[in-house]
Amino acid sequence: MPANNMDELVALCKRRGFIFQSAEIYGGLQGIYDYGPLGVELKNNLKNAWWKSMVYENDNIEGLDASILTNSMVLDYSGHTETFSDPMVDCKSCGLRFREDQVPEYCKKEDLTEPRQFNLMFKTNVGPIDDGSSYAYLRPETAQQIFTNFKNIVDSTSCSLPFGIAQIGKAFRNEITPRNFIFRVREFEQMELEYFVAPGEDEDAHNIWVQKRLNWWEKQGVPIKSIQLHEVPIEELAHYSKKTVDLMYKFPHGLEELEGIANRTDFDLGSHSKNQNELNIHAKVKLNKDSNSKLSIKNREGGMVVPFVIEPSAGVERGMLAVLNEAFTIESLAENKTRIVLKLKPHLAPIKAAIIPLKKNDENLVNLAKKIKSKLQQLGYGRIILENTGNIGKSYRKQDEIGTPLCITVDFKTLENNSVTVRDRDSMQQERINIKDIESLFMEKIK
Ligand code: ATP
Repeated sequence: MPANNMDELVALCKRRGFIFQSAEIYGGLQGIYDYGPLGVELKNNLKNAWWKSMVYENDNIEGLDASILTNSMVLDYSGHTETFSDPMVDCKSCGLRFREDQVPEYCKKEDLTEPRQFNLMFKTNVGPIDDGSSYAYLRPETAQQIFTNFKNIVDSTSCSLPFGIAQIGKAFRNEITPRNFIFRVREFEQMELEYFVAPGEDEDAHNIWVQKRLNWWEKQGVPIKSIQLHEVPIEELAHYSKKTVDLMYKFPHGLEELEGIANRTDFDLGSHSKNQNELNIHAKVKLNKDSNSKLSIKNREGGMVVPFVIEPSAGVERGMLAVLNEAFTIESLAENKTRIVLKLKPHLAPIKAAIIPLKKNDENLVNLAKKIKSKLQQLGYGRIILENTGNIGKSYRKQDEIGTPLCITVDFKTLENNSVTVRDRDSMQQERINIKDIESLFMEKIK
């Protein structure tokens, strides 16, 4: 059961240490957020799940971690300097500035200025001299350095078509109106795959990746039935795209894009290549006078070809928001009581198990709890915590709210007969098991 509104999620995220506004003690910085002790775990778990499904489970996908600061020529030839902009309007009545398609209802149409294009890239100075000539950009998408590293990766691995290059990392966009918590922010992370195929095989590959991505979201707890496919109308397509299918999810504030899957054709490799006239490039590209590399690869017949590329591009923050929204549940209990429980998939849960000594600071109980913690921690499934508060009811409530799949309680009976109580987050059922069986039960539930 998803959350009723964004406020419920925002409150939980703040209260339990998932997400904070950046520089909150100075009033914040608009569109920028920090990830607390639980947020960083959830984020890492989501990114790891993506990385595993791409790089480890496919024999033809390689990983990359390229720089954030980007040579301006990369973004000139990619078309970003010229076209990566949104139309912006000012309201003469309230003095605020909006993206043209996001003007709030309280501003009257006749009070708006004519739209002007506003480039979304952050520019920064590189090196000690700030004379305006030595600048770079913070990348607005992770994709471009995948294209500029295309030859490095082909030459250093045994890639042949079809193959992919995957990357997770920060991207920056000076959004005119950041809003809706972490949905639209100015600093975010993308999980992007560029999947290279022979021209002509692009449309089939596109359909296959749409299905694969839906299946992946389902495994993260965002069911396929909660996602609508939206084919972007031709007049709204990005300059590089032949076709884009957006995965639209019903966020607490409305139906919006969770991930975009684009057919970028041979536009990017063609744009960054030298000797373009020798390459039979299908897309319309700007003449490149600066690149020192021909970005082509052998096709099956032995000739050289500039591959087409299919790009599934997902935002980590939007993914977290969808996952949190789907997991958020308010359950009715006996005596008119309720509990909040985050029914996260165990592989995404920030804390995998909490070990709780029944009595706070009791040396025997705490030492045994520490031993159990350390044993489970060594299994390498993620963070295990020792919850030494002595208030079992409060501990269960907290662990439910942060989505911890298992609570293991060590009590005085444990000292007598080596048994502990294991409580399951979703069913709230408790069973007593022998300490020697904890590891296998844990692995069974967490895998
Ligand atoms: P939108 O139309 O919502 O501005 P977009 O079409 O510009 O998004 P893409 O360029 O396709 O987005 O980026 C791929 C993914 O990166 C998006 O599906 C989204 O998950 C994420 N993303 C893009 N912009 C932002 C942002 N400002 N804040 C958070 N995530 C973002």
